[in-house]
Amino acid sequence: MFDIAIIGAGINGSALAYFLSKAGKRVAVFDGGGIASGGSGAAGAFISPKIAKGGDLKAISDEAFAFSLEFYNRNFPNFITNSPLLHLSKQQDENEKVRHFKEHTSLHVKSPDKSLLDILEPTCKDYEALYLKESGVVDAQGICKALTESSVFINEDITSLTCKGEYWELNSSHKALHVILATGAYKKLLELPYIKHRGVWGHRIDIKSSTNIPLNIHQFVSISASKNGYAAIGATHNVHYHPQTSKESYDIESGRKEPLERASKTLALKDVQILKDYTGLRSGSNDYIPVIGSLVDTKATVEKLPNITKGEKYPRSEFVYYPHLSMINGTGGYGFVLAPYLASMLSDEILYKKEIDRRLVPVRFFERFVKKGGF
Ligand SMILES: Cc1cc2nc3c(=O)[nH]c(=O)nc-3n(C[C@H](O)[C@H](O)[C@H](O)COP(=O)(O)OP(=O)(O)OC[C@H]3O[C@@H](n4cnc5c(N)ncnc54)[C@H](O)[C@@H]3O)c2cc1C
Repeated sequence: MFDIAIIGAGINGSALAYFLSKAGKRVAVFDGGGIASGGSGAAGAFISPKIAKGGDLKAISDEAFAFSLEFYNRNFPNFITNSPLLHLSKQQDENEKVRHFKEHTSLHVKSPDKSLLDILEPTCKDYEALYLKESGVVDAQGICKALTESSVFINEDITSLTCKGEYWELNSSHKALHVILATGAYKKLLELPYIKHRGVWGHRIDIKSSTNIPLNIHQFVSISASKNGYAAIGATHNVHYHPQTSKESYDIESGRKEPLERASKTLALKDVQILKDYTGLRSGSNDYIPVIGSLVDTKATVEKLPNITKGEKYPRSEFVYYPHLSMINGTGGYGFVLAPYLASMLSDEILYKKEIDRRLVPVRFFERFVKKGGF
Protein backbone atom coordinates (compact mmCIF):
# COMPACT_ATOMS: atom_id res chain seq x y z
CA MET A 1 0.00 0.00 0.00
CA PHE A 2 1.39 3.41 -1.02
CA ASP A 3 0.57 6.56 0.91
CA ILE A 4 0.23 8.48 -2.33
CA ALA A 5 -0.20 7.39 -5.97
CA ILE A 6 0.49 10.06 -8.55
CA ILE A 7 -0.87 9.34 -12.03
CA GLY A 8 1.29 11.16 -14.61
CA ALA A 9 5.03 11.80 -14.50
CA GLY A 10 5.12 15.24 -16.13
CA ILE A 11 6.50 18.25 -14.33
CA ASN A 12 3.33 18.64 -12.22
CA GLY A 13 3.25 15.03 -10.99
CA SER A 14 7.04 14.96 -10.55
CA ALA A 15 7.16 18.20 -8.53
CA LEU A 16 4.41 16.94 -6.26
CA ALA A 17 6.23 13.62 -5.82
CA TYR A 18 9.28 15.58 -4.68
CA PHE A 19 7.47 17.49 -1.91
CA LEU A 20 5.47 14.49 -0.66
CA SER A 21 8.38 12.05 -0.61
CA LYS A 22 10.56 14.65 1.08
CA ALA A 23 7.94 14.79 3.86
CA GLY A 24 8.42 11.04 4.38
CA LYS A 25 5.44 9.73 2.38
CA ARG A 26 5.71 6.51 0.38
CA VAL A 27 4.95 7.80 -3.08
CA ALA A 28 4.37 5.89 -6.33
CA VAL A 29 4.38 7.68 -9.69
CA PHE A 30 2.64 5.93 -12.62
CA ASP A 31 3.15 6.71 -16.30
CA GLY A 32 2.95 4.20 -19.14
CA GLY A 33 4.96 6.47 -21.42
CA GLY A 34 7.84 6.92 -18.99
CA ILE A 35 8.97 10.01 -17.08
CA ALA A 36 8.28 13.29 -18.94
CA SER A 37 6.76 11.52 -21.92
CA GLY A 38 3.89 14.03 -22.35
CA GLY A 39 3.91 17.80 -22.76
CA SER A 40 6.73 18.14 -20.23
CA GLY A 41 9.20 16.19 -22.35
CA ALA A 42 8.52 18.51 -25.29
CA ALA A 43 8.91 21.77 -23.38
CA GLY A 44 11.70 24.26 -23.90
CA ALA A 45 11.24 24.71 -20.15
CA PHE A 46 12.02 28.43 -20.07
CA ILE A 47 11.62 29.87 -16.59
CA SER A 48 10.35 33.33 -17.36
CA PRO A 49 7.51 35.50 -16.05
CA LYS A 50 4.20 35.98 -17.84
CA ILE A 51 4.21 39.46 -19.35
CA ALA A 52 0.70 40.77 -18.75
CA LYS A 53 -0.94 43.92 -17.47
CA GLY A 54 -2.70 42.39 -14.49
CA GLY A 55 -5.27 39.83 -13.38
CA ASP A 56 -5.17 36.68 -11.28
CA LEU A 57 -3.05 34.68 -13.71
CA LYS A 58 -0.35 37.33 -13.77
CA ALA A 59 -0.34 37.60 -9.95
CA ILE A 60 -0.06 33.80 -9.59
CA SER A 61 2.61 33.59 -12.32
CA ASP A 62 4.73 36.34 -10.76
CA GLU A 63 4.76 34.56 -7.40
CA ALA A 64 5.39 31.20 -9.05
CA PHE A 65 8.24 32.59 -11.16
CA ALA A 66 10.13 33.90 -8.12
CA PHE A 67 9.42 30.70 -6.15
CA SER A 68 10.45 28.31 -8.92
CA LEU A 69 13.60 30.10 -10.00
CA GLU A 70 14.82 29.96 -6.42
CA PHE A 71 13.59 26.34 -6.01
CA TYR A 72 15.50 25.02 -9.04
CA ASN A 73 18.66 26.95 -8.21
CA ARG A 74 18.69 25.88 -4.56
CA ASN A 75 17.73 22.22 -4.97
CA PHE A 76 18.68 21.30 -8.55
CA PRO A 77 21.43 23.67 -9.70
CA ASN A 78 22.69 21.11 -12.23
CA PHE A 79 19.40 21.15 -14.10
CA ILE A 80 19.02 24.89 -14.64
CA THR A 81 20.98 27.23 -16.91
CA ASN A 82 20.61 30.81 -15.76
CA SER A 83 20.70 33.59 -18.36
CA PRO A 84 19.14 37.02 -18.60
CA LEU A 85 15.98 37.43 -20.63
CA LEU A 86 15.22 39.88 -23.40
CA HIS A 87 11.47 40.07 -23.99
CA LEU A 88 10.02 42.00 -26.93
CA SER A 89 6.42 42.70 -27.81
CA LYS A 90 5.13 40.84 -30.86
CA GLN A 91 3.23 43.73 -32.39
CA GLN A 92 2.84 47.45 -31.95
CA ASP A 93 -0.37 47.15 -29.94
CA GLU A 94 1.44 44.95 -27.41
CA ASN A 95 3.99 47.71 -26.69
CA GLU A 96 1.77 49.21 -24.04
CA LYS A 97 1.48 45.85 -22.23
CA VAL A 98 5.26 45.42 -22.04
CA ARG A 99 5.69 49.05 -20.93
CA HIS A 100 3.05 48.61 -18.24
CA PHE A 101 4.74 45.41 -17.01
CA LYS A 102 8.10 47.17 -16.83
CA GLU A 103 6.63 49.97 -14.76
CA HIS A 104 4.57 47.87 -12.35
CA THR A 105 6.36 44.59 -11.72
CA SER A 106 8.30 43.92 -8.54
CA LEU A 107 10.90 42.00 -10.62
CA HIS A 108 14.15 43.79 -11.46
CA VAL A 109 13.46 44.67 -15.07
CA LYS A 110 14.83 47.53 -17.15
CA SER A 111 15.11 48.63 -20.75
CA PRO A 112 17.86 46.72 -22.56
CA ASP A 113 21.16 48.36 -23.52
CA LYS A 114 21.34 49.50 -27.13
CA SER A 115 24.16 47.03 -27.84
CA LEU A 116 21.77 44.16 -27.15
CA LEU A 117 19.15 45.48 -29.55
CA ASP A 118 21.85 45.82 -32.21
CA ILE A 119 22.15 42.03 -32.49
CA LEU A 120 18.48 41.75 -33.47
CA GLU A 121 16.78 42.23 -36.82
CA PRO A 122 16.31 45.97 -37.56
CA THR A 123 12.47 45.74 -37.39
CA CYS A 124 12.75 44.78 -33.71
CA LYS A 125 13.57 48.41 -32.88
CA ASP A 126 9.86 49.22 -33.36
CA TYR A 127 8.90 46.98 -30.48
CA GLU A 128 8.97 47.62 -26.76
CA ALA A 129 11.64 45.52 -25.04
CA LEU A 130 12.47 44.62 -21.47
CA TYR A 131 15.57 43.10 -19.91
CA LEU A 132 15.37 40.81 -16.89
CA LYS A 133 18.63 39.74 -15.32
CA GLU A 134 17.27 36.58 -13.73
CA SER A 135 15.67 33.91 -15.86
CA GLY A 136 16.59 30.38 -16.85
CA VAL A 137 15.98 27.23 -18.79
CA VAL A 138 15.66 23.86 -17.09
CA ASP A 139 16.50 20.46 -18.52
CA ALA A 140 12.91 19.26 -18.88
CA GLN A 141 13.47 15.50 -18.83
CA GLY A 142 16.35 15.64 -16.37
CA ILE A 143 14.46 17.66 -13.78
CA CYS A 144 11.40 15.38 -13.90
CA LYS A 145 13.67 12.36 -13.33
CA ALA A 146 15.51 14.10 -10.49
CA LEU A 147 12.25 15.16 -8.80
CA THR A 148 10.91 11.60 -8.78
CA GLU A 149 14.14 9.98 -7.56
CA SER A 150 12.85 9.35 -4.03
CA SER A 151 9.54 7.92 -5.26
CA VAL A 152 8.78 4.51 -6.75
CA PHE A 153 8.28 4.95 -10.51
CA ILE A 154 5.92 2.43 -12.12
CA ASN A 155 5.97 2.36 -15.92
CA GLU A 156 2.26 1.60 -16.30
CA ASP A 157 -0.82 3.43 -17.53
CA ILE A 158 -3.69 3.49 -15.08
CA THR A 159 -6.88 2.36 -16.76
CA SER A 160 -9.07 1.77 -13.72
CA LEU A 161 -9.37 3.72 -10.52
CA THR A 162 -11.76 2.48 -7.85
CA CYS A 163 -12.48 3.93 -4.44
CA LYS A 164 -12.54 1.15 -1.84
CA GLY A 165 -13.54 3.36 1.09
CA GLU A 166 -10.30 3.91 3.00
CA TYR A 167 -8.06 3.47 -0.03
CA TRP A 168 -7.99 3.56 -3.85
CA GLU A 169 -7.33 0.61 -6.11
CA LEU A 170 -5.40 1.29 -9.32
CA ASN A 171 -5.56 -1.26 -12.18
CA SER A 172 -6.71 -3.88 -9.63
CA SER A 173 -3.06 -4.36 -8.69
CA HIS A 174 -1.94 -1.29 -6.71
CA LYS A 175 -3.33 0.37 -3.62
CA ALA A 176 -2.87 3.88 -2.26
CA LEU A 177 -4.43 5.97 0.49
CA HIS A 178 -4.48 9.14 -1.63
CA VAL A 179 -4.50 9.55 -5.42
CA ILE A 180 -3.38 12.55 -7.47
CA LEU A 181 -4.46 13.05 -11.08
CA ALA A 182 -1.56 14.74 -12.88
CA THR A 183 -2.47 13.53 -16.34
CA GLY A 184 -2.12 16.77 -18.33
CA ALA A 185 -4.10 16.87 -21.58
CA TYR A 186 -3.54 13.24 -22.42
CA LYS A 187 -6.11 10.83 -21.06
CA LYS A 188 -9.27 11.02 -19.03
CA LEU A 189 -9.61 8.68 -16.09
CA LEU A 190 -12.64 9.98 -14.24
CA GLU A 191 -15.86 11.51 -15.54
CA LEU A 192 -15.60 15.14 -14.44
CA PRO A 193 -18.16 16.94 -16.65
CA TYR A 194 -17.38 20.35 -15.14
CA ILE A 195 -13.65 20.32 -16.00
CA LYS A 196 -12.61 20.73 -19.61
CA HIS A 197 -8.92 20.93 -20.36
CA ARG A 198 -7.87 22.12 -23.80
CA GLY A 199 -4.83 20.47 -25.30
CA VAL A 200 -2.76 22.85 -27.43
CA TRP A 201 -0.16 21.14 -29.58
CA GLY A 202 3.34 22.61 -29.66
CA HIS A 203 6.53 21.95 -31.61
CA ARG A 204 10.00 22.99 -30.57
CA ILE A 205 13.46 22.23 -31.88
CA ASP A 206 17.06 21.96 -30.73
CA ILE A 207 19.46 23.56 -33.18
CA LYS A 208 23.15 24.13 -33.78
CA SER A 209 24.13 27.52 -35.24
CA SER A 210 27.26 29.60 -35.65
CA THR A 211 25.36 32.65 -34.37
CA ASN A 212 26.13 33.44 -30.76
CA ILE A 213 22.92 34.01 -28.76
CA PRO A 214 24.02 35.77 -25.56
CA LEU A 215 20.74 35.51 -23.63
CA ASN A 216 17.22 34.06 -23.73
CA ILE A 217 15.03 35.98 -26.17
CA HIS A 218 11.22 35.86 -26.25
CA GLN A 219 9.27 37.41 -29.06
CA PHE A 220 7.41 35.45 -31.76
CA VAL A 221 8.91 32.32 -30.24
CA SER A 222 11.38 31.64 -27.41
CA ILE A 223 15.07 31.32 -28.27
CA SER A 224 17.48 30.11 -25.61
CA ALA A 225 20.95 31.50 -25.01
CA SER A 226 23.40 29.33 -26.94
CA LYS A 227 25.77 26.94 -25.19
CA ASN A 228 28.71 25.78 -27.35
CA GLY A 229 26.64 26.57 -30.44
CA TYR A 230 23.54 24.69 -29.27
CA ALA A 231 20.19 26.39 -28.60
CA ALA A 232 16.52 25.58 -28.14
CA ILE A 233 13.76 27.26 -30.14
CA GLY A 234 10.10 26.91 -29.30
CA ALA A 235 7.36 26.51 -29.22
CA THR A 236 4.52 26.82 -31.71
CA HIS A 237 0.85 26.94 -30.71
CA ASN A 238 -1.03 24.71 -33.11
CA VAL A 239 -4.75 24.70 -32.31
CA HIS A 240 -5.67 22.71 -35.44
CA TYR A 241 -3.84 19.48 -34.64
CA HIS A 242 -4.66 17.15 -31.75
CA PRO A 243 -3.13 13.65 -31.52
CA GLN A 244 -6.37 12.11 -30.22
CA THR A 245 -8.86 13.71 -32.60
CA SER A 246 -7.08 14.77 -35.81
CA LYS A 247 -7.66 12.51 -38.82
CA GLU A 248 -4.25 13.17 -40.38
CA SER A 249 -0.96 12.51 -38.67
CA TYR A 250 1.27 15.43 -37.73
CA ASP A 251 3.76 16.55 -40.41
CA ILE A 252 7.05 17.03 -38.57
CA GLU A 253 8.87 18.38 -41.65
CA SER A 254 6.52 21.31 -42.19
CA GLY A 255 5.89 21.75 -38.46
CA ARG A 256 9.58 22.43 -37.76
CA LYS A 257 9.67 25.30 -40.25
CA GLU A 258 7.45 27.48 -38.09
CA PRO A 259 9.70 27.88 -35.02
CA LEU A 260 12.64 28.66 -37.32
CA GLU A 261 10.69 31.22 -39.36
CA ARG A 262 9.42 32.87 -36.21
CA ALA A 263 12.88 32.98 -34.65
CA SER A 264 14.37 34.51 -37.80
CA LYS A 265 12.02 37.52 -37.50
CA THR A 266 13.90 38.39 -34.30
CA LEU A 267 17.42 37.18 -34.96
CA ALA A 268 19.31 36.10 -38.09
CA LEU A 269 20.58 32.61 -37.30
CA LYS A 270 23.46 31.40 -39.46
CA ASP A 271 24.44 27.84 -40.46
CA VAL A 272 21.44 26.28 -38.76
CA GLN A 273 21.30 22.55 -38.30
CA ILE A 274 18.15 21.10 -36.75
CA LEU A 275 19.20 18.47 -34.25
CA LYS A 276 15.98 17.28 -32.69
CA ASP A 277 12.22 17.88 -32.81
CA TYR A 278 9.97 17.77 -29.77
CA THR A 279 6.17 17.82 -29.87
CA GLY A 280 3.50 17.63 -27.22
CA LEU A 281 0.32 19.00 -25.71
CA ARG A 282 -0.02 21.80 -23.21
CA SER A 283 -3.07 21.44 -20.98
CA GLY A 284 -4.95 24.67 -20.38
CA SER A 285 -8.02 25.24 -18.23
CA ASN A 286 -11.05 27.22 -19.42
CA ASP A 287 -10.07 30.31 -17.43
CA TYR A 288 -6.31 29.82 -18.07
CA ILE A 289 -5.69 29.51 -14.32
CA PRO A 290 -4.15 26.27 -13.02
CA VAL A 291 -6.25 23.71 -11.15
CA ILE A 292 -5.14 22.16 -7.86
CA GLY A 293 -7.08 20.49 -5.06
CA SER A 294 -10.01 18.18 -4.31
CA LEU A 295 -12.59 17.14 -6.87
CA VAL A 296 -16.37 17.26 -6.56
CA ASP A 297 -18.15 13.95 -7.20
CA THR A 298 -20.98 15.15 -9.47
CA LYS A 299 -23.19 12.05 -9.12
CA ALA A 300 -22.94 11.88 -5.32
CA THR A 301 -23.54 15.64 -5.03
CA VAL A 302 -26.72 15.42 -7.14
CA GLU A 303 -27.93 12.53 -4.98
CA LYS A 304 -27.35 14.58 -1.83
CA LEU A 305 -28.59 17.92 -3.22
CA PRO A 306 -31.11 17.11 -5.99
CA ASN A 307 -32.18 20.75 -6.38
CA ILE A 308 -28.69 21.60 -7.55
CA THR A 309 -29.78 20.37 -11.01
CA LYS A 310 -32.34 23.23 -11.02
CA GLY A 311 -29.58 25.74 -10.33
CA GLU A 312 -30.07 26.05 -6.55
CA LYS A 313 -26.99 27.47 -4.87
CA TYR A 314 -25.09 25.74 -2.04
CA PRO A 315 -21.89 26.57 -0.19
CA ARG A 316 -18.78 24.68 -1.31
CA SER A 317 -18.77 22.73 1.97
CA GLU A 318 -22.11 21.09 1.07
CA PHE A 319 -20.83 19.42 -2.09
CA VAL A 320 -19.64 15.80 -1.95
CA TYR A 321 -15.92 15.44 -2.78
CA TYR A 322 -14.13 12.27 -3.84
CA PRO A 323 -12.28 11.09 -0.73
CA HIS A 324 -8.50 11.47 -0.82
CA LEU A 325 -8.35 12.43 -4.47
CA SER A 326 -6.71 15.59 -5.85
CA MET A 327 -5.80 17.12 -9.18
CA ILE A 328 -2.89 19.21 -10.41
CA ASN A 329 -3.32 20.40 -13.98
CA GLY A 330 -4.06 23.33 -16.30
CA THR A 331 -0.60 24.92 -16.32
CA GLY A 332 -0.81 25.78 -20.04
CA GLY A 333 2.46 27.10 -21.46
CA TYR A 334 3.98 27.76 -18.02
CA GLY A 335 4.18 24.33 -16.39
CA PHE A 336 7.86 24.56 -15.47
CA VAL A 337 7.31 27.98 -13.93
CA LEU A 338 4.16 27.00 -12.04
CA ALA A 339 4.72 23.37 -11.01
CA PRO A 340 7.07 23.74 -7.98
CA TYR A 341 4.92 26.54 -6.57
CA LEU A 342 1.63 24.68 -7.09
CA ALA A 343 3.03 21.35 -5.91
CA SER A 344 4.32 22.93 -2.72
CA MET A 345 0.85 24.39 -2.07
CA LEU A 346 -0.96 21.13 -2.83
CA SER A 347 1.40 19.07 -0.69
CA ASP A 348 0.80 21.49 2.22
CA GLU A 349 -2.93 20.90 1.83
CA ILE A 350 -2.56 17.11 1.70
CA LEU A 351 -0.08 16.93 4.58
CA TYR A 352 -1.18 19.78 6.87
CA LYS A 353 -4.72 20.69 5.66
CA LYS A 354 -3.48 24.15 4.70
CA GLU A 355 -6.13 25.86 2.63
CA ILE A 356 -5.41 26.36 -1.09
CA ASP A 357 -5.86 29.77 -2.71
CA ARG A 358 -9.56 29.93 -3.75
CA ARG A 359 -8.62 31.01 -7.27
CA LEU A 360 -6.93 27.66 -7.93
CA VAL A 361 -9.36 25.04 -6.62
CA PRO A 362 -11.30 22.84 -9.10
CA VAL A 363 -14.62 23.45 -7.31
CA ARG A 364 -14.80 26.84 -9.06
CA PHE A 365 -15.60 24.99 -12.29
CA PHE A 366 -18.31 22.95 -10.58
CA GLU A 367 -19.99 26.16 -9.37
CA ARG A 368 -19.89 27.61 -12.91
CA PHE A 369 -21.25 24.33 -14.28
CA VAL A 370 -24.22 24.50 -11.85
CA LYS A 371 -24.83 28.19 -12.65
CA LYS A 372 -24.93 27.48 -16.38
CA GLY A 373 -27.38 24.58 -15.88
CA GLY A 374 -24.82 22.07 -17.13
CA PHE A 375 -26.72 18.94 -15.92
C1 LIG B 1 6.15 22.32 -27.03
C2 LIG B 1 5.94 22.83 -25.64
C3 LIG B 1 6.79 23.83 -25.13
C4 LIG B 1 6.60 24.30 -23.83
N1 LIG B 1 7.47 25.23 -23.31
C5 LIG B 1 7.37 25.61 -22.01
C6 LIG B 1 8.31 26.52 -21.44
O1 LIG B 1 9.22 26.98 -22.10
N2 LIG B 1 8.17 26.83 -20.12
C7 LIG B 1 7.16 26.33 -19.35
O2 LIG B 1 7.10 26.66 -18.16
N3 LIG B 1 6.25 25.48 -19.88
C8 LIG B 1 6.32 25.11 -21.18
N4 LIG B 1 5.40 24.28 -21.72
C9 LIG B 1 4.26 23.89 -20.92
C10 LIG B 1 4.58 22.74 -19.98
O3 LIG B 1 5.32 21.78 -20.68
C11 LIG B 1 3.26 22.14 -19.46
O4 LIG B 1 2.56 23.12 -18.74
C12 LIG B 1 3.59 20.95 -18.58
O5 LIG B 1 4.29 19.99 -19.33
C13 LIG B 1 2.35 20.32 -18.01
O6 LIG B 1 2.79 19.27 -17.20
P1 LIG B 1 1.83 18.14 -16.73
O7 LIG B 1 2.61 17.32 -15.76
O8 LIG B 1 0.53 18.71 -16.28
O9 LIG B 1 1.46 17.33 -18.07
P2 LIG B 1 2.32 16.34 -18.97
O10 LIG B 1 3.73 16.67 -19.03
O11 LIG B 1 1.59 16.21 -20.24
O12 LIG B 1 2.24 14.98 -18.14
C14 LIG B 1 1.10 14.21 -18.02
C15 LIG B 1 1.55 12.76 -18.01
O13 LIG B 1 0.45 11.96 -17.60
C16 LIG B 1 0.59 10.73 -18.25
N5 LIG B 1 -0.73 10.08 -18.19
C17 LIG B 1 -1.90 10.53 -18.68
N6 LIG B 1 -2.89 9.65 -18.40
C18 LIG B 1 -2.31 8.64 -17.71
C19 LIG B 1 -2.81 7.43 -17.15
N7 LIG B 1 -4.09 7.10 -17.24
N8 LIG B 1 -1.94 6.61 -16.51
C20 LIG B 1 -0.63 6.95 -16.40
N9 LIG B 1 -0.11 8.07 -16.91
C21 LIG B 1 -0.94 8.90 -17.56
C22 LIG B 1 1.04 11.09 -19.66
O14 LIG B 1 1.69 9.99 -20.28
C23 LIG B 1 1.98 12.26 -19.39
O15 LIG B 1 3.34 11.85 -19.32
C24 LIG B 1 5.55 23.79 -23.03
C25 LIG B 1 4.71 22.80 -23.54
C26 LIG B 1 4.90 22.32 -24.83
C27 LIG B 1 4.00 21.24 -25.35
